[in-house]
Amino acid sequence: AKSEGKAAYHFFEPSLDEEARKRRQMELDMRMALRDGGFELYYQPLYGAVEEELKGFEALIRWFHPELGFISPAEFIPLAEETGLIIPIGEWVLREACQQAATWPGELSVAVNISPKQFASPGLSQTIMQALAHGELSPKRLELEITESIFIANVEKTLSTLHSLRALGVRIALDDFGTGYSSLSYLRSFPFDKVKIDRSFVQAISKEVNAHAVIRAITTLAEALGMETLAEGVEQEDQLEVLRREGCRYIQGYLFGKPTPAADLGNIFGDVNDKSKRL
Ligand code: C2E
Ligand code: CA
Ligand code: CA
Ligand code: CA
Repeated sequence: AKSEGKAAYHFFEPSLDEEARKRRQMELDMRMALRDGGFELYYQPLYGAVEEELKGFEALIRWFHPELGFISPAEFIPLAEETGLIIPIGEWVLREACQQAATWPGELSVAVNISPKQFASPGLSQTIMQALAHGELSPKRLELEITESIFIANVEKTLSTLHSLRALGVRIALDDFGTGYSSLSYLRSFPFDKVKIDRSFVQAISKEVNAHAVIRAITTLAEALGMETLAEGVEQEDQLEVLRREGCRYIQGYLFGKPTPAADLGNIFGDVNDKSKRL
């Protein structure tokens, strides 16, 4: 029996090894990308749902690996979280986003994703202050997107972090709303400026009869709590119609624009209020 167990172990070993080796390599590659300017920010436009006016952009990190090509943030951000690399990567994102947003016309805002580990790190307020100062960006033009996973941590600590961030004058949005933990009870106790309705609810509009009612429940609740709403992943006109009718304030999705390199945003600034330019 002993030798059988050993054989089984040997059988699985190579794939575990291979997995670990790939992760180590990716970690090294992320360090290199950070050092050599291998990351880039793309920006996806956010529009008013009714007036279809451009309000700002969400910054989304992109990594074009020298050998492997495009690697999705959905793949490398979780590894960056685990290894702690998310801290320096997040600092770079904040600095870059503030600096680029400061060059945009008018009062356009920039939304930056803050991962759970970054949110819990003691240096976050300081990092944000420095990024704003370095880019000479007004704090009211910066919005931080955090997910419901921050609620797992100590409630008092989470609340005090949220309050100290808001004291900087930045805005805070709850990302991927509806996908996480006890959303409704927490929403009431935390000072969010905006709720981002997860793409899954938007996609349900074309498929499920009750989807309208769920959207309405969220927008009604958010309004009662003094929070704005944005719907993510809007791809179709019928989704936009429903979201408008149910009182959603802002829209983001391929219907209005994909994530775009900073250098190409000029076209989008020019398209303000031009419905014919929809994708
Ligand atoms: P997220 O914050 O929920 O970002 C929205 C994602 O939905 C983006 O994927 C965006 O490209 C995609 N998207 C936007 N509109 C549509 C649409 O109409 N249809 C569909 N199917 N998808 C749409 P992306 O850029 O691949 O980013 C994935 C996730 O990676 C983000 O989800 C966020 O959690 C994370 N991420 C991206 N950039 C950063 C960053 O700078 N820092 C951190 N911590 N996380 C980031
Ligand atoms: Ca986001
Ligand atoms: Ca989201
Ligand atoms: Ca998401």
